[in-house]
Amino acid sequence: MESEKDCIFCKIVAREIPSQKVYEDESVLAFKDIHPMAKVHVLIVPKRHFKNVEEIAASDSDLLAHIVEVASKIANEKYNGSYRLVFNTGLDAGQTVFHAHAHVLTGEKLAE
Ligand code: 5GP
Ligand code: ZN
Repeated sequence: MESEKDCIFCKIVAREIPSQKVYEDESVLAFKDIHPMAKVHVLIVPKRHFKNVEEIAASDSDLLAHIVEVASKIANEKYNGSYRLVFNTGLDAGQTVFHAHAHVLTGEKLAE
């Protein structure tokens, strides 16, 4: 598994830092965001280190499709299937962790 020293999400995937797991399979780990912005706020993180969603799309488009499937599964299990899927990409967009991750926001009617 490709991982980067000092990457917080690589450490969560390696269980060096604890997280509240929501879903896991061979390619992704999903866990609760530590600062939830919605009633249900889950991060879906590829186990392999990519710096952002563009790198996932360029090197493994099946993995990107899989992340969407997992988001849908979480939104159906935790709510009524409605969800917002966000990939902050770059500093000016608010990306703070440079290990690609999808924010799944659901569990309630979201503010527009
Ligand atoms: P970004 O701003 O890069 O799109 O999102 C990073 C997200 O990771 C933020 O929403 C932040 O709350 C979350 N986060 C940062 N560190 C941790 C952590 O150690 N554990 C968990 N569960 N979430 C984290
Ligand atoms: Zn990483």
